[in-house]
Amino acid sequence: MNAAQNPLRSLGPAGKIIVAIDGPAGAGKSTIARRLARRFGLLNLETGAMYRAFALKALRAGLPLDSVADLEKLAAQTHIRLEAGPAENRVLLDGEDVTAILREQSVTDAASRVSVFPAIRAWMVRLQQEMGAGGGVVMEGRDIGTVVFPHADVKIFLDAAPEVRGMRRFDQLGPKPAVQPDEVIRDLRERDERDRSRADSPLKAAPDAVLLDSTNLTLEEVVQTAEEIVTTRLAALAALHQPEIDKA
Ligand code: C5P
Repeated sequence: MNAAQNPLRSLGPAGKIIVAIDGPAGAGKSTIARRLARRFGLLNLETGAMYRAFALKALRAGLPLDSVADLEKLAAQTHIRLEAGPAENRVLLDGEDVTAILREQSVTDAASRVSVFPAIRAWMVRLQQEMGAGGGVVMEGRDIGTVVFPHADVKIFLDAAPEVRGMRRFDQLGPKPAVQPDEVIRDLRERDERDRSRADSPLKAAPDAVLLDSTNLTLEEVVQTAEEIVTTRLAALAALHQPEIDKA
């Protein structure tokens, strides 16, 4: 993309925007974040991968996933780094590239459990704020627009009916999945329930987020709508900054 095509360029330093994408499991956040990142020249940061990496370490250490004291101690000795890549984030856990194993079911389940604890969330939120501080990012997760970057320039809450999200996940499992569709949907509902009901930063749309329900949309329609949301917001930001540019 050249500078003329990239609407961020028109904003100058303000082009270091933050786009927050939140929503439940299987809503398509990663795909949409990746596409927006490519379209607008931003870094794509998947915060779920950070919870997954920490969960992996807890599993390896054999810790009970409900022992917040043990988890806190472990967190104090853990370094997690996300590196934005063209397809997905590369995740470094204490320097080890664990990207390939983070999608295993045991890790998925453990991530959903360890992420309920306020001390773990506070640590993660701090890391995420540091990573996104310079702007120029699309960050996706559950609490980006509400807690991590409540002043994000663009906020999208991506949702879809649980059955639709479950079937999309099931279809991603390949030709011979070891589970039935209803198991995938059940697991997804359980994770939703934990995310939505936890006391600390539960999954919910920020009041100023644009709701995007993809239940009846194709992937390309969702991408197009999300791009329009960002473009409209960028135009509004550019108009806001125009008087300053005129004065200069
Ligand atoms: O998005 P992903 O499915 O990879 O996230 C794994 C788990 O991490 C989720 O089930 C959710 O419980 C937790 N999570 C969170 N807050 C975030 C991102 C993920 O609680 N910002």
